[in-house]
Amino acid sequence: MLRLFNTISRQLEEFKPINKEAVGLYTCGPTVYDFAHIGNLRTYIFEDVLKRALVFVGFPVKHVMNITDVGHLTNDSDFGEDKIEKTARLESKKAVDIAAFYTDAFKSDLRKLNISEPTVWCRASEHIAEQIALIKKLEEKGFIYITSDGVYFDTSKVKDYGKLARLNIAGQEEGARVEVNTEKKHSTDFALWKFSPADVKRQMEWESPWGVGFPGWHIECSAMSMKYLGETFDIHAGGVDHVPVHHTNEIAQSEAATGQPFARYWLHGEFLLINEGKMAKSEGNFITLNAVQEKGFDPIVYRFYCLSSHYRSKLNFTWDTLANAKIGWDKFKNKFFSLGRQNGKVDAALLARFQEKVNDDLNMPQAMAVVWDVLKSDLTDFDKRATLIKFDEVLGLGLADLHEAEQAAPAAVVQFAKDRDEARAGKKWKKADELRKKIEELGWLVKDESDASHLKRKE
Ligand code: AMP
Ligand code: ZN
Repeated sequence: MLRLFNTISRQLEEFKPINKEAVGLYTCGPTVYDFAHIGNLRTYIFEDVLKRALVFVGFPVKHVMNITDVGHLTNDSDFGEDKIEKTARLESKKAVDIAAFYTDAFKSDLRKLNISEPTVWCRASEHIAEQIALIKKLEEKGFIYITSDGVYFDTSKVKDYGKLARLNIAGQEEGARVEVNTEKKHSTDFALWKFSPADVKRQMEWESPWGVGFPGWHIECSAMSMKYLGETFDIHAGGVDHVPVHHTNEIAQSEAATGQPFARYWLHGEFLLINEGKMAKSEGNFITLNAVQEKGFDPIVYRFYCLSSHYRSKLNFTWDTLANAKIGWDKFKNKFFSLGRQNGKVDAALLARFQEKVNDDLNMPQAMAVVWDVLKSDLTDFDKRATLIKFDEVLGLGLADLHEAEQAAPAAVVQFAKDRDEARAGKKWKKADELRKKIEELGWLVKDESDASHLKRKE
């Protein structure tokens, strides 16, 4: 029984899908105006583990992820410049080119981290009609009002507004700072559609029943999730920063439009911190996956590092703790390689223990402890290998492919090994022994298995 912490109930709940054949999962994707930072990537790793865990326990997943290529303003409270148009302006480029460049960069980060692709990728700019249709529905039901700069959602019309974040609306109204947009009726109201400013020519703008402009940031996720997954779907996930505004507003507008519950389970990943503060693009303290690689780390070390903490715990990033993760990963890999190349049987008892940790709200630190227990167990090497490869369906460390890649010994070592095989074939044992020594001097071991001889790194 898979139990997940549902932000809406603040409780661990047994996960029961609407339809066992295809669990609907929507995860908020990147705003493609810059590289993702490793904080964002921590959230995508958590969501990947979630998806893999669902499949592992027998629920195939239909996963939808959006690409925000329009409408996300520099300030989440509906003012400021469109992030993508701003980068385009600063770099004298086309907005579409900026979006395409950072979308590719994002997908490349996902590949490096073994994060599996969603079933459906969807771009906000390609779903304008769906967003307009949703706003129209809200208009018909009386949830919108129009100001000089856009179409707004009236949050006072929704009786349970803020239920996800358990917002204290009354307290918020009183304590609200001076709003830039004085035409908003309530501080929690948000833009569904913004009009193109009279003095600036936007690169991305569309006709709408209310005037030329572009969609607000929240409406894209409601329109696209419901288009691909239905009005009510299973799981919506993202980082914790989305609880009070973005997800709160997605719920309000979706449920107002359909009269149906929106997502049934809300899962949120905690933040990656740096110097105990938030890692964010706006703080200018962010580290990209490329920077991690430039420091000499294999990107998968970052995934391994993230698995060492629970997704609902904050994680304070330092280069030293990443270096420790690398030591752990290297140690693990060497032990894994020493198991040889054949898969035996998956051990049922260890699998059951691993499964129990996965079922416990994706407890990866404890699942990793079971991984080390496999290595320490008295199973045969081949059974250990098979068991770890089974676990890797959730961990996503790429173990099955890793062996081959890591076997790539330097050319000199490979040549010595070849010569040694020949010497052995010709029963020249002394020569074979000398070659073994040469291989070992270069930091490698040669292991004779039934099928052939194999090289592995010395521990
Ligand atoms: P954004 O591109 O800003 O919309 O963020 C993409 C995803 O990363 C969202 O799910 C955010 O909630 C999440 N996120 C942003 N900053 C962090 C952080 N420091 N640690 C973990 N997740 C984050
Ligand atoms: Zn979203």
